[in-house]
Amino acid sequence: MIATEANFASDLLDELFPICRSITGNGVRQTLNILSRTMNLNIHEIPSGKHVYDWVIPKEWNINDAYIADHSGKRVIDFRENNLHVMSYSTPVNARMSFDELRPHLQTLPEIPDAIPYRTSYFKEDWAFCLSQKQLDGLDKNQFYDVVIDSEIKNGHLTLGDSLLEGTSGKEYLISTYCCHPSMANDNLSGPIVSTLLYKKLKERGHYHSYRFVVLPETIGAITYLSENETEMQKLQGGFVVTTCGGPGGYGHKETFQGNHELDRAVRLIFRDANTDLISYPFVPDGSDERQYSSPGFRIPVTTISKDKYYEYPYYHTSLDNKAFVTGENLALTAEYYMKAIAVLEKNRVYRSLNPKCEPQLGKRNLYPSTGGGQKQIAAGAVNSDINNQVDIICWMMFLADGKHDLIDMAERSGYPFEDISHLADRLVEEGLLELIE
Ligand code: ZN
Repeated sequence: MIATEANFASDLLDELFPICRSITGNGVRQTLNILSRTMNLNIHEIPSGKHVYDWVIPKEWNINDAYIADHSGKRVIDFRENNLHVMSYSTPVNARMSFDELRPHLQTLPEIPDAIPYRTSYFKEDWAFCLSQKQLDGLDKNQFYDVVIDSEIKNGHLTLGDSLLEGTSGKEYLISTYCCHPSMANDNLSGPIVSTLLYKKLKERGHYHSYRFVVLPETIGAITYLSENETEMQKLQGGFVVTTCGGPGGYGHKETFQGNHELDRAVRLIFRDANTDLISYPFVPDGSDERQYSSPGFRIPVTTISKDKYYEYPYYHTSLDNKAFVTGENLALTAEYYMKAIAVLEKNRVYRSLNPKCEPQLGKRNLYPSTGGGQKQIAAGAVNSDINNQVDIICWMMFLADGKHDLIDMAERSGYPFEDISHLADRLVEEGLLELIE
C-alpha cells in the first residue's frame, strides 16, 4: 500500500517539479490540470482587478525565458536551468548593462553559498535575478551583460481549484493546500501531492463526513476563495492546511487558534498512539492560509501536520528544497498520518451511560474475563489491547460516559488506543450499556 502510494507521489513530484508557478499564470493552470486527473477539481478563473475583501486580484504574470549573458553570448544565469533564477512577477527587461548597474538586481543567500534563493515581488513592480553566492562570486565584475526577462504582466485571471467529496454526516471539513511556488519540493509541492493522496484514499476507503478540497495560490488565493464562497465556508467544522510535509525531519503540529479543538486532540492522539514524536507549534497569526480561514469573520479552526515545517529547515525557500530533500516515501507516510487523524474525526462520538448509577456488573454480560469463553467475546471488541486491558478500557469508558466526554477524551484519559475505544463503544452499545447522543 505505502509502496504504491510512494511511487504515485514520487511520479507526481517528478511531473510537477519543473513547472514555473506563481500566484497567477499558466504554471498554476498546468499544475491544477495535472492534479485534476486524480482530484476532479473544478477550475475557477477570477479576473484581475476584482476586489476580494481588502485586496485586489493582481494582473496575471507569465514568463517564457530569462537570462544574463556575457559578452560572448554565453548564458551565465539561465532561467531554463532553474526557474528560481527569476524573481516571481519580475517585469520584462531587455538591456545591456554593466555589472555595477546589474548588481542591485541580483539576490543571493550568502549563508548557503550553493543555494539560489526564492524571491517574489507580487505587489510592487520590480525585477531581479536570484543566484547562488558562488555564481555571483564567479561573475566578471568588469564586463557588460545582456539582461533579458521575457515576461508579461497584464490583465488576466487568478486560477484556483476545488472539489467536494460529499459524506452523509452533515459535517464538512476543509483540506486546503497552495500551488504558487516554482520548482521547490517541500515548500510547496509536498502540500498538493499529499492532498491528492488524501483525496484518493478518502474516495477508496469511503467517508462519513464531507471533505472540501481546495488548491489555490497562497494568501491571495485563500482570500479570493473565502470571498467567493462565504456562505459555504462559514459552515465548515474545521480543516487542515497541508504544507511542508515531505522532508527528512520530524513531524510537527501547528495547532488551531483554539489550541485544544477536536482537530488538535485528534492529531496529538494519533501520534501518541503511533508512538511517534511530534513537535508542537502553538498557533501564531503567521504561516499559511490558516491566517485567512481562522480570521474573525470565519474562525474556522485549521491545523497542519508538517514534516520539516516552513521556516524551520535551512533549505526553506531555496533551490536546495528539491527532489533530493523530499521523497515519495515521506509523502506517503505523511498522508497516512493525515488519514489516521481523519479516521479519528470520522469515528469520534459522544455516548451516555445507560447505567450511570454505580458500576455495571460486567461479569453477567460476559464482559469480565472470568472464563475462557468470556475472554473471546471481549476480544472481539478491541484490536490492540489484551484482555485485562479491555476490562480497564471498559471501566474508563463507563466512568466517562456522562454525555460530556467524547471518545477522544476517553482515549486521552485512559491512555488506551483510540481504535480500541472506538471498537469497544460499539460493543457497549450492543450490550445496552451506552447510548449514542450525537
Ligand atoms: Zn513558501
